[in-house]
Amino acid sequence: MSLTDIFATRSSRMKASEIRELLKLLEQPDIISFAGGIPDPNLFPMDAFREALAEAMQEPGSLQYSATEGYAPLRSWLAEQMTVLEVPCSAKNILITSGSQQALDHLGKLFLSPGDTTLLGWPTYLGALGAFNAYEPRYDRLDPGSNRAPEDFAAAAAENGGQVKMAYLSVDFCNPTGVTQTRDERLQVLHMADALDCAVIEDAAYQSLRFDGEALPPILALEIAKKGDIDKCRTIYCGSFSKTLSPGLRVGWVCAAEEVIQQLVLQKQAGDLHSPTLNQIAIEKVARRHFLSHVATIKSAYRARRDAMLAALEKYMPEGVDWTRPEGGMFIWMTLPPSMDSQDIFKTAVEEKRVAFVPGSPFYPDGTGANTMRLNFSNANEDMITEGVSRLAEVIRAAMAA
Ligand code: PMP
Repeated sequence: MSLTDIFATRSSRMKASEIRELLKLLEQPDIISFAGGIPDPNLFPMDAFREALAEAMQEPGSLQYSATEGYAPLRSWLAEQMTVLEVPCSAKNILITSGSQQALDHLGKLFLSPGDTTLLGWPTYLGALGAFNAYEPRYDRLDPGSNRAPEDFAAAAAENGGQVKMAYLSVDFCNPTGVTQTRDERLQVLHMADALDCAVIEDAAYQSLRFDGEALPPILALEIAKKGDIDKCRTIYCGSFSKTLSPGLRVGWVCAAEEVIQQLVLQKQAGDLHSPTLNQIAIEKVARRHFLSHVATIKSAYRARRDAMLAALEKYMPEGVDWTRPEGGMFIWMTLPPSMDSQDIFKTAVEEKRVAFVPGSPFYPDGTGANTMRLNFSNANEDMITEGVSRLAEVIRAAMAA
């Protein structure tokens, strides 16, 4: 007998991420990698954190257990920031989480019984699939602009023995596609969720990283405008400091109706009691003092890298290859002709040209999308980006000619 024989059924849906396995291969220094999805560590606000952490150590309770809801001054600052984003709310609508990834896990736990349906865009953030999979859901495809009726989604969910419980969206500069949902698409999701009586999980991890174009209100803001009060809303906003200040400190937040926050507090209490006290105090100090100026610095660096990648794609990619033109974030999504497989391209690109990206199919819950790939532009300088895209174009051109 092996213990694997008695693992709970949910463990069978939790597989090693192909992407993490791939990324391990890419640690050699001569590889130009567009594969990661991480901020440039050279842009971390090191001095600000050095100072804030030293001050945080002076605060009573900095090494002690603390409230599950989170560090009160941080919750208040976030409530002010959410209000600036047209989400009027107070600290009671904010829960601090250990990254927004933890929020996704808790939301899966809160809403999904085995067989329930989650609606999501295809492709979707791999980490969301990882978080939700443990709760054994069924996925259905929610395409912006599609005219599939809510009753259709409800009937398909019922046929599979469950109910549509939530719609999950990475709304701004989506990981992996870089695409932003328009105002109409956001309203359409709300309309659909109202008709289905399900939650909307608004993943806003990249929200602050807009380089150009018009800033759009969060889905939660649109819902408050309609219903008058956050406590009447079904949208649950998940924010993160990972893409702006530091991913390693693991600080994110949920902004939602108080009744949802209260239930999440009970779950978080059972899960990890609270997020690290010292990290929350330090994040609060750095955010209050430097958030806007620091975000302006990283946006200008990432904007130049995005521009370099778009220019290189335009210059080097052969006819028949298409890509998105994101207004912010960290990713461009590329689509090859339908007959091509980006896993084959990946192998040749890494082995022969020392350039890497992430093949697209793992981002599709049904494993399709073989001809797609994700390119990250936040973690290489402009010269490396130009060189890497030119190498990648050579591999694609050769494969097309074969
Ligand atoms: N959502 C999206 C869309 C992401 O890309 C990420 C990080 N890759 C997360 C959530 C989780 O980030 P964190 O837990 O660091 O806040």
